Amino acid sequence: MLGKVVPCIIGGEPVYPKNGQTIRDINPADVNDIIAEFPKLGREEASRAIELAEEAQRGWAAVPSPERGRILVKAANLMEAEFDELAKILTREEGKTLNESRAEVSRAISIFRFYGIMGYRLRGEFTESTEQNTYLFTLREPLGVISIITPWNFPIAIPSWKIAPALVCGNAVVFKPASYTPLIAYKIVEALQKAGLPPGVLNLVTGSGAEIGDEMVENKRVSGVSFTGSYEVGERIAQKANAKKNTRVQLELGGKNPAIVLDDADIDRAVAMIIRAAFGLSGQACTATSRAIVHDKVYDEFTRKLIERIRRIKVGNGLQDGVEMGPVVGENEMNKILQYVNIGISEGAKLLYGGKRLTSEDYIRGYFIEPTVFSEVTPDMRIAQEEIFGPVLALMRASSFDEAIEIANKTEYGLTASIYTSDIRKAFEFIKNVQAGVVKVNKPTTGLEIHVPFGGFKKSSNEMFKEQGEAALDFYTKIKTVYLSF
Ligand code: NAP
Ligand code: MG
Repeated sequence: MLGKVVPCIIGGEPVYPKNGQTIRDINPADVNDIIAEFPKLGREEASRAIELAEEAQRGWAAVPSPERGRILVKAANLMEAEFDELAKILTREEGKTLNESRAEVSRAISIFRFYGIMGYRLRGEFTESTEQNTYLFTLREPLGVISIITPWNFPIAIPSWKIAPALVCGNAVVFKPASYTPLIAYKIVEALQKAGLPPGVLNLVTGSGAEIGDEMVENKRVSGVSFTGSYEVGERIAQKANAKKNTRVQLELGGKNPAIVLDDADIDRAVAMIIRAAFGLSGQACTATSRAIVHDKVYDEFTRKLIERIRRIKVGNGLQDGVEMGPVVGENEMNKILQYVNIGISEGAKLLYGGKRLTSEDYIRGYFIEPTVFSEVTPDMRIAQEEIFGPVLALMRASSFDEAIEIANKTEYGLTASIYTSDIRKAFEFIKNVQAGVVKVNKPTTGLEIHVPFGGFKKSSNEMFKEQGEAALDFYTKIKTVYLSF
């Protein structure tokens, strides 16, 4: 059975597959459910999208920014009118539970509203001059054409937090969503079109990242690339962009996020938050907790309570009521996670819970994995160092606060980090010493508010530009300084 063919959108026009070349959009909870098919475009079509974006950008930049913002707010309203349908598409396409999808769709709507209103607040700076009758001030100008390349795990929120600031600043965009999640991407573009975005200002291209991705980075008309995804692909993009001058690059990459549990913590709260952060979205959040670093004195109590709670996690199709954890997104991802389980066992970590694919009648048509916990994990093990991107939590022991921080920092990544403690001094020392771009106290490593900056340290980012909040505007604009004498 084939899915309904949904087009790309280039220059405001639908573009259908050529010679039947498509990518298939499949429900990871049930592989017989083919949701849609999208064109598998090549470099040539990506290049044409970039050309049309460049043409459209000049007109778009001339539109006053409050008017650009008005279109974003209208798109948010249109998305809100379709709220239930969008949440359902997201669950069918990506696998997360309906509650998780609702939260994500609602976040995307807020993001469009936030940057819509930013249309009234695209400000420069005014400074007194050292000379008489002279004004000094700065203006923000758009970069031009921006390539936006996004992953499947937050397939409506991440594109929204890139597309909305790019557009309100007066840029045109060529947007390539992950091949697992093109339909929700199409819905974003559709809402903006219906809201009155001029043709060519936002173009949707689908197809293999390896193929059209290169065009989106190397094309001379592109002045900025905003990418979220794996470290490996991020590295490749950075190299290609550096080889070509004048391309600004923003990279948000993987994580290996720690949660420290001290002996003075509220253990029940720590267990609840760590379960949510480790197994929510089936562990497929860049901000997921993948290492719980627990003080010796409470290690056994924490472990016992954690396992008690994990036994009750209901795994299943995210569309069903009461399901707390959906499938992982695809077969390759599932196999990679199961491989890491074997690696953990062979490294000598103790498999405390889970570790297997679920294969009974209800599960066999999807990519379901048990929530998995390893105990007695040591910092040098691969399962303590490498991003697994699935429902696998490593428990690590620390005999002191200082040792806990040392373990937390002992990875190449630095996206988010949490501590659970009731000691305010330790909380502040943690804030000061932990190497992560987002730091939380008595809160899960996952979960971001839309109006503050987000981005990682170390291998989790290229550390040049933040996303989200007002800080996002810095990536999407360049500053012009004006000296005016009268
Ligand atoms: P991925 O394999 O790196 O893919 C991300 C995007 O890049 C997809 O659209 C993909 O297209 C495209 N792509 C693949 N090869 C490319 C190439 N050579 N040139 C240009 N683009 C290319 O990552 P993923 O598996 O989708 O997502 C999981 C990763 O994202 C994890 O590492 C996770 O930590 C990270 N992530 C980070 C953040 C953050 O904010 N730090 C947030 C979410 C996720 P195809 O789908 O067509 O292959
Ligand atoms: Mg991938």
